[in-house]
Amino acid sequence: MQNLLHNLNQEQLAAVTLPAQSALILAGAGSGKTRVLTTRIAWLIQTGQVSPAGVLAVTFTNKASKEMMTRLSAMLPINTRGMWIGTFHGLCNRLLRAHYRDAGLPQTFQILDSQDQLSAIKRLLKSLNVDDEKYPPRNLMYFINGAKDQGLRANEVEANDDYNRKFVELYDLYDQQCQREGVVDFAELLLRTYELLSRNQPLREHYQARFQHILVDEFQDTNDLQYKWLKLMAGQRGAVFAVGDDDQSIYAFRGANVGNMSAFEHEFRVENLIKLEQNYRSHGHILDSANTLIANNSKRLGKNLRTDAGHGEPVRIYEATSDLQEAQWIIEEAKSLINEGATRSEIAVLYRSNAQSRVIEHALFSAGIPYRVYGGQRYFERAEVKHAIAYLQLMDNPHNDSAFLRVVNFPTRGIGARALEQLQDAARQYGISLYAAVPYVAGKAGATLGAFLKLIEGGRFETQHLPLPEMVQIVLEMSGLIQHYRNEKEGADRIENLEQLVNAATLFVSEEGFGADAPALLGPKAQAVAGAAITTAEGIEIFDADAPLATLMSPLSAFLSHASLEAGDNQAQAGQDALQLMTVHSAKGLEFDAVFITGLEEGLFPHENSQKENAGVEEERRLMYVAITRAKQRLYMSFSQTRMLHGQTRYNTRSRFFDELPEDALKWLSPKVQPHSWFGNQKSAWDDAPEKGVNTIAKNFSRKDIGWRIGENVSHQKFGEGVIVNIEGSGGNARAHINFGKHGMKLLDLSVAKLEKV
Ligand code: ATP
Ligand code: MG
Repeated sequence: MQNLLHNLNQEQLAAVTLPAQSALILAGAGSGKTRVLTTRIAWLIQTGQVSPAGVLAVTFTNKASKEMMTRLSAMLPINTRGMWIGTFHGLCNRLLRAHYRDAGLPQTFQILDSQDQLSAIKRLLKSLNVDDEKYPPRNLMYFINGAKDQGLRANEVEANDDYNRKFVELYDLYDQQCQREGVVDFAELLLRTYELLSRNQPLREHYQARFQHILVDEFQDTNDLQYKWLKLMAGQRGAVFAVGDDDQSIYAFRGANVGNMSAFEHEFRVENLIKLEQNYRSHGHILDSANTLIANNSKRLGKNLRTDAGHGEPVRIYEATSDLQEAQWIIEEAKSLINEGATRSEIAVLYRSNAQSRVIEHALFSAGIPYRVYGGQRYFERAEVKHAIAYLQLMDNPHNDSAFLRVVNFPTRGIGARALEQLQDAARQYGISLYAAVPYVAGKAGATLGAFLKLIEGGRFETQHLPLPEMVQIVLEMSGLIQHYRNEKEGADRIENLEQLVNAATLFVSEEGFGADAPALLGPKAQAVAGAAITTAEGIEIFDADAPLATLMSPLSAFLSHASLEAGDNQAQAGQDALQLMTVHSAKGLEFDAVFITGLEEGLFPHENSQKENAGVEEERRLMYVAITRAKQRLYMSFSQTRMLHGQTRYNTRSRFFDELPEDALKWLSPKVQPHSWFGNQKSAWDDAPEKGVNTIAKNFSRKDIGWRIGENVSHQKFGEGVIVNIEGSGGNARAHINFGKHGMKLLDLSVAKLEKV
């Protein structure tokens, strides 16, 4: 038997071996929270306090749950496949599959990703003739999700004016539409499970008795409904072991409520609040930077981090003149790290917004450095893949109107707008799905629609005994998608992506433990006979949750859920030793030897949307704290004077966060001035600064001799209000680059221009 506990420090050991009561581990980044949580599961099982089936563990991402299972398999001689380790969404999907009837869902219910959800909402508004300028679909989506995240149905939302009442009414109609089509959105997965368990006492008691230990990672980012869900699951006796860091709460925009941490302490009667203060991840300068930065936030639960690792390298900071130059610099630095022996996959480039990655990707591509982008366009979100998925969805549940509309005339088969209008009218009249309404459409329109129906039904019949990968292959051909892209000029890539779907299906079937020959369409009913289901004394059928997904849904249903729920990595590049590119949000919980934090400019990081309110800036600061604490040995930060974003050139000032870092930990690198940058060949004040002194200049760039500083807002008689972007020269010769918004960038002589401070 392995000694699981030997490489833990005292506080960690105490946390891992706590008695079976609710506990809160509150600790900073890199202090071993995730390690403690995983080790506790292993320890509980190894010491016989719980069976693998009695553990419920919640992680923040699918990737994290996979990693946890891998770690557990390494620690214990058990098969982790049947264990309940997953995200809230993944776990709820599983529960709803097992109890779909009680939850009021069709067995083959499908999951809408956010893109599908938005189009479902647009479709709803259109069918109701609602003015989508007055009631923008996106706002309605936020409204609905916001309500669901708080656990509220339409009839529970308070609306105090006509406008909001309309939103509430639309929320209700949206839910009805989803129900009719047999689809659920992400928030619905949770709310539906919550309602199921609150309503159904025997079921609730079954799971409460079963899950004696519930463990939650990244607890600071749970929302209200997730919190209520945990309370319900735990019941009176369940022990919830929550680990989190209030300084890393970065999902408020999605309803996360950091207040859950203090609520948890009271409501779960936490007697054991353990703080971990030893950081095992980062070198000293990196950790100092994180600590000093986050100290600027006012609302904190308070904790410290220390490290035994030495100071290490200073944090290197680079000012670029353009985003292109910033990318170039990243590549040079990454190359020298690789030359020194760094592994590519241990180098991460982080950015605040996805839009920033394009320039960096381009530069990496030109330099021939392999890279991998997370959270960009997901594989399953590519148009051609979505088309193929829509055909598969129709095979599984033909009443999914979103899927129907996506492919009814793609590839084109002569079904025009007029025919669809007739179909939609019929569907509305009888309150049925588009698919079911086809027989009610007469004439030529009815004939073309009928042919589509035959295509889907024929496909279903033809593939009913085939395993999933073969079914996918046939659907690609039968739908006409492959042929369609073959005729398209740039279709080769798309065909390749479509063919990847067959590989993805093959991999999925084997990973999830469906037999290689298991028919894709065969539902759990047939397999349940094989003994996977148990019936409670009350006559409720409960599937044995130790059994793999295979007993809960058909391979096709499971695969379709996977397509909606997985944070789809770029499959083509998986497994390669590649540089890692991702947003700061998606880097949560991860660590790398070297990290670049890019685009540290006002308006970008902190993001402009956050600056209106102080709470917004504090959230951005936590995000910056997350970014810094991803680094183990090397940390780089960069910003650029100009940047092309969304087709516009922005003139930027450096992020306020630089002023919040400890000077001793930093090393400012002076930029090479590009001949074609907006300030021409002029030297900037930074160039002449000796390596050491630059720091001071940069930090205290309030040039007393001039009376102006970079980042200051000024007003000019002719050009109006602007921001000082750069200052060059000194004394009477000082000139400033000022961005005057619609008047553009001006270079003004400070002793002549009559500027005023605003
Ligand atoms: P985050 O807040 O970023 O999620 P965390 O608190 O979950 O961080 P972990 O990821 O669990 O931290 O641990 C950070 C790193 O420190 C990991 O590489 C982990 O293996 C290592 N580590 C944790 N505890 C110890 C220990 N006692 N001895 C050696 N290494 C440790
Ligand atoms: Mg962690």
